[in-house]
Amino acid sequence: MIAPILPTYSRAPLAFEHGEGAWLVTAEGERYLDLGAGIAVTALGHCHPALVRALETQGRKLWHTSNLYEIPNQQALAERLVAATFADTVFVTNSGTEAIECAIKMARRHFHAKGSERWRIISFEGSFHGRTTGAIAAAGSAKLVEGFGPLMPGFDILPWNDREALVAAIGPETAAILVEPIQGEGGIRPMSPQALRDLRALCDEEGLLLILDEIQSGMGRTGRLFAHEWAGITPDIMAIAKGIGGGFPLGACLATEAAASGMDVGSHGSTYGGNPLASAVGLAVMDEVEHPGFLDHVSRVGGRLRQGLEGLVASHPNVFDTVRGEGLMLGLRCRVPNRDVVTAGYAERVLTVPGGDNVVRILPPLTLDIAEADEGLRRLDAAARRLEEAA
Ligand SMILES: *Cc1c(COP(=O)(O)O)cnc(C)c1O
Repeated sequence: MIAPILPTYSRAPLAFEHGEGAWLVTAEGERYLDLGAGIAVTALGHCHPALVRALETQGRKLWHTSNLYEIPNQQALAERLVAATFADTVFVTNSGTEAIECAIKMARRHFHAKGSERWRIISFEGSFHGRTTGAIAAAGSAKLVEGFGPLMPGFDILPWNDREALVAAIGPETAAILVEPIQGEGGIRPMSPQALRDLRALCDEEGLLLILDEIQSGMGRTGRLFAHEWAGITPDIMAIAKGIGGGFPLGACLATEAAASGMDVGSHGSTYGGNPLASAVGLAVMDEVEHPGFLDHVSRVGGRLRQGLEGLVASHPNVFDTVRGEGLMLGLRCRVPNRDVVTAGYAERVLTVPGGDNVVRILPPLTLDIAEADEGLRRLDAAARRLEEAA
């Protein structure tokens, strides 16, 4: 008999009753150090006082009115995102995949409004853009698309970091390039700053839009507000989500005025997108992430964690292979199955997230402190010893 929950998830036999900062606590009172943050979502940790306050205050005033009316919180959130980024305009969504859908529609509409035939989008192997039909077509991996065809046409999926293939793939119908500056689900595979600058230059030469998926890498995760800032470039369109809501479902599609030129009244919409409650939480997240010193803290703790992870690779060469990533978006490539490492972590009460390319992802709350980072390293060390003893 089918379970009451559609059986699409492979879940660990773990449930949590409450959370505080970087810690998750079971009903029995067992404390787990959370180095996964719900896949880079709870960027300020669990139940951050400022977020709880924002939610409670707005929860007593007004939850939802629809986009039939003006929503001052959504207006304020959009203004904050515009002030903090390359963007001139923002569409607020409830999730990452909706932000990607908006980006795809915006890119096609941009060229349509100009009377151009461009509509195809180049994307890359190993990428992940969400689970809607457009987003799975954009990422294209067999795991995501099998049995769901026919797929939405118009995506050219290229090998990762292959400049020649990229140049060859651009044709008269190409509208945009869609890329994660650091692949998340793909296993924390960063695009080098130079490769990102090359992409920007190529888009400029060819008249294409550069769409960045910063759903996982954004909102301070790498030690900059957005990962593309490390390369000194800006996109035309950017999808964000995860950290912006700190655990409340929230995403956004940001764009320059030029890129958004086709999106006129009636061209797109969402019932919930940017409702008063979600926007209040997003504003509170922005307040914290833009606090002076916040991003320096991410870099400092990220550096400590990275150094410690390099040490783990050195002391457990049969378990771990390499460390990669930036800030608090780190990947530990494994020599044993990555899921075994994640499971051994459960026994040591530390939570990590598996990713592609046999990587264990370390995506802690950005508020993690140095002592917690060291505690996490001790627990990962113990998990590795557990695996060595079992071998
Ligand atoms: C999580 C993620 C998505 C999808 O976000 P949802 O909120 O699950 O729809 C898309 N792109 C990237 C890079 C992600 O990490």
